[in-house]
Amino acid sequence: MGPAPAYVVCSGALTPRVEAMSTVAPDQTAPSTPPERRMAGPGTPLADMAPEFDRATVQRYARNIATPGIGMVGQRRWSAARVAVVGLGGLASPVLEYLAGAGVGELLVVDVDPVELSNLQRKPIFGTEWVGRPKVEAAAAGVHRINDRVDVRMVDGYVTSENALELLERYDVIVDCTDTPEARRVIARTAAELAVPHVWGAVEQFSGRVATWWAPHGPCSECTPDFEPPSSSALSFTESGVFGPVTGQVGMVMASEALKLLLALGEPLLGWILQVDTLTQQWTDDRRAADPQCPVCRPAASSERAWAHTGAITLPPADELWQPPELDASTLQQMMQNREEFEPFVLLDVRGEHEREVVALDGSFHLSLDEVREGKAKEVFGPHDNVVVYCRNGRRSAEAARQLHAQGFGGVFLLDGGLTQWAREVDPELPVW
Ligand SMILES: [Zn+2]
Repeated sequence: MGPAPAYVVCSGALTPRVEAMSTVAPDQTAPSTPPERRMAGPGTPLADMAPEFDRATVQRYARNIATPGIGMVGQRRWSAARVAVVGLGGLASPVLEYLAGAGVGELLVVDVDPVELSNLQRKPIFGTEWVGRPKVEAAAAGVHRINDRVDVRMVDGYVTSENALELLERYDVIVDCTDTPEARRVIARTAAELAVPHVWGAVEQFSGRVATWWAPHGPCSECTPDFEPPSSSALSFTESGVFGPVTGQVGMVMASEALKLLLALGEPLLGWILQVDTLTQQWTDDRRAADPQCPVCRPAASSERAWAHTGAITLPPADELWQPPELDASTLQQMMQNREEFEPFVLLDVRGEHEREVVALDGSFHLSLDEVREGKAKEVFGPHDNVVVYCRNGRRSAEAARQLHAQGFGGVFLLDGGLTQWAREVDPELPVW
């Protein structure tokens, strides 16, 4: 019998996808952290102790063991600990490297994308040889390069409200390295439901934020909905440019938070949001309290069945938003090559100006998403012009298209999947990221 398959997670189902190295999907039958330990809060170690070490293992972890506060007991706890790292963006790279170095017993890695060449600027755990291959496999290989004693479990898929509880319930700490509001919300609610500490970080251009949420011992991330920068509602953090080292700075704080929580070491960043501006190297902090009305963490806190596994995560109702009609990349290419055969249209790029320096579609006009929001399109187009909006992957352009629609523009279309899809369908040489 070969190694157990990794799993792709889609539509709430766990479906075998690939045979992959020595790594396997989470063992759903293994016991999860006892709920009473999670309920005990920051003063209680979350992890059990691994069996006694052999000499080589003692040698490997000698610097940890020699550190007051960690010691042999702490190292054996790390070696028995389980940490889930969701989203393999720039933040996950230092998180995984330092958790691997510390000898955390089991790491779950979750992502759906392949490694791209443009990832390497901020994700040193991947190497050039991994470009085009699944990030989860590249991450597992990166962890094993550092420490082959870590058991890496992989999920090549999305965390969704359907599968999140099943996937994450056996982990002692959840580290959220995702970059979309949807994924963050699912993780936040799952962590609150399970009473598992949830280390969160975000980076954008030269700045970053990091926090630890742990309901009911402090606020959950939904208690303070303003903690994310405003742009995150429409723009993933990694979609705009990012200064590579800021992901390292924030990711290392996340790694140290996770390691501290496992041993009940020091003070976690519970209720604190740390922010760094790498241009000045100023760190600032901002204290947040739990919202007594928080719909995610407070009702459960007051009930008898506090933090029991109910299997139900309540996600906010899907916004009933106008959905722009979509064009696929090859159709748009035909329209661009044979303009006389189609109704006139304007091609509108709503990415940032610096992104256009990397690549832009021929003949495209530029207004940033903020400029579209400010109503600048009215100065440029007529209400009856056809406008095809594009961005990197379709997220900002969908928001821009909705804005244009709300502002009275009639013929608004979206390039489905943005430049990422264009590169897949039309021009594989297009430098996208
Ligand atoms: Zn809350």
